[in-house]
Amino acid sequence: MHHFEYRDGSLFAEEVSATKLAEEYGTPLYIYSAATFRRHFQAFDSAFKGLDHLTCFSVKANSNLSVLRMLGEEGAGMDIVSGGELYRALRAGIDPGKIVYSGVGKRESEIREALEARILMFNIESVAELHKINAVAEEMGTVAKVSFRINPDVDAKTHPYISTGMAKNKFGLDIEHSLEAYKQAVELKNIDPVGMDCHIGSQLTSIDPFLEALDKLLNFYEKLKDIGVDIKYLDLGGGLGIPYDEEEPPHPTEFGQALVEKLKALPLKIILEPGRVIAGNAGIMITEVVYTKSNPMKNFLIVDGAMNDLVRPSLYGSYHRIDEVEKNGRETDIFDVVGPICESSDFLARDRELPKMEQGERLVVFSAGAYGFTMASNYNTRPRACELIVDGDKVLVARKRETYEDLIENEI
Ligand SMILES: *Cc1c(COP(=O)(O)O)cnc(C)c1O
Repeated sequence: MHHFEYRDGSLFAEEVSATKLAEEYGTPLYIYSAATFRRHFQAFDSAFKGLDHLTCFSVKANSNLSVLRMLGEEGAGMDIVSGGELYRALRAGIDPGKIVYSGVGKRESEIREALEARILMFNIESVAELHKINAVAEEMGTVAKVSFRINPDVDAKTHPYISTGMAKNKFGLDIEHSLEAYKQAVELKNIDPVGMDCHIGSQLTSIDPFLEALDKLLNFYEKLKDIGVDIKYLDLGGGLGIPYDEEEPPHPTEFGQALVEKLKALPLKIILEPGRVIAGNAGIMITEVVYTKSNPMKNFLIVDGAMNDLVRPSLYGSYHRIDEVEKNGRETDIFDVVGPICESSDFLARDRELPKMEQGERLVVFSAGAYGFTMASNYNTRPRACELIVDGDKVLVARKRETYEDLIENEI
């Protein structure tokens, strides 16, 4: 459920007309719905209300400061994967005691920053990282709370680029070597192994891989107890999918129920790291048709939003629903919706049935709230888009459109 809907054929973001916003702020334009963000967060979080738990929003899905602040006010912690994301989360007023830090390549400076901030814990992805964190913590005279990210070797049945829990992936430690890693961790003076973690992939549309991973982790939990390691946290990562097209991912409530069933008897605090399921359908991108053209094979709608603004179609072949901002009831044809960038991979949709639009008219790209702006770049020296948050009838410029000056600011 989201709060982008048509009223008499005209697209609204909550109480505000998308056309009005595009006229005032220009295109390409990201629009987020505050009510949708809050609703998604609460729906997800309340699915786990039977358990002692903490829902940590995955910052890389949408890292706008105002978005993070808004989710923080709803009670969210944050799952970060870099020092930059730590900085954002802290600037957004997130309690460091609700921040977990994942990622295979944490640098020494980033580890120090996280220890200084006193985050809840590190999700460690290699034995080398364990020793690095121990060394940094020792130097700082502190103790680092850690989990190991365990790679359960399950197939998440999602796009290969966003599968993370198979043996061939770079993420986490295989179960075989994990026990040894915990044994080492227990011996290290500046490490306190407090938890277990896994994250098997993104855009999962079935609960089964989650349950398969959970079973392996719970089995491992017993082995940990056998060697006397008593952990307090079980972090199950993120990855729940959303409907972009015809997918029918489980509702968070169903997902929650399945997990709660298996976890309620355990003396563990459960951590969840949802990103896409909170943010994906809480944002749209508006783009304007610059030109139209046809050749004997194809019809093109050339729009001002490109792969630098929204890379998912180019990177993963992802589907985003696209429609008119103002419905005109015209006949349709089959189009490629492409951007101005000098790459043939620069498309938002291919072979899509759309109304015959004209120059200057606008399209909406749905489900752009996660991995949209955060993956944007300045390729082709294109300023990154403006991000708005609509809250009822109020509009907040959450990020100004970049200027040409911004683009060369750090260059000589
Ligand atoms: C990306 C990521 C998430 C969030 O994944 P979603 O599919 O957006 O829910 C959670 N945890 C980790 C470690 C991640 O890398």
